[in-house]
Amino acid sequence: MFPFAHVGIGTHLIPGRVRASLPWRWVALGCLLPDLIDKPIWIVARLSSGAVDANGGLFASARLFGHSVFFAGLLALAAALVPAARMRALAYGAATHLLLDLVTDYALFGHGAWRTWLFWPLAVPSFATVSIPSLLRAFASEASSKVYLVGELVGAALLIRDRARRGGKRAWP
Ligand SMILES: [Zn+2]
Repeated sequence: MFPFAHVGIGTHLIPGRVRASLPWRWVALGCLLPDLIDKPIWIVARLSSGAVDANGGLFASARLFGHSVFFAGLLALAAALVPAARMRALAYGAATHLLLDLVTDYALFGHGAWRTWLFWPLAVPSFATVSIPSLLRAFASEASSKVYLVGELVGAALLIRDRARRGGKRAWP
């Protein structure tokens, strides 16, 4: 999914009482964190020719370690060890990111697409389930997908509604 969906929808996936105790900006950062980590690495890997084989190998999908259950687990562990609301906000946010990406994959590719990334780098596909011939084509297919578009619209609408309800205050609605 894209940023508006991740922040707009993602923040609403966290139970209200938990959400109210977390700093919004850090929750939003958590919601975007897996993409902020993985996408730049993926772009560099794809652009540096010769670094990847024909199917993309480890970099077949733009979801790498930041999208793995291992990273989410590390964040959860850190949140349990460090008694800081910011850390908990990141852990919750990143968890919603994975959930939304799972739902998106299910809608687009059906069951099993998560195998290419959820346990990265352990579950590297033997055949490219999601074969991405080029950076541009991959982006174009995401951008033109109705699932992504709907996600962005719903996410943006939720953010606008939240903002209107907050009425300038920083607190949650
Ligand atoms: Zn993602």
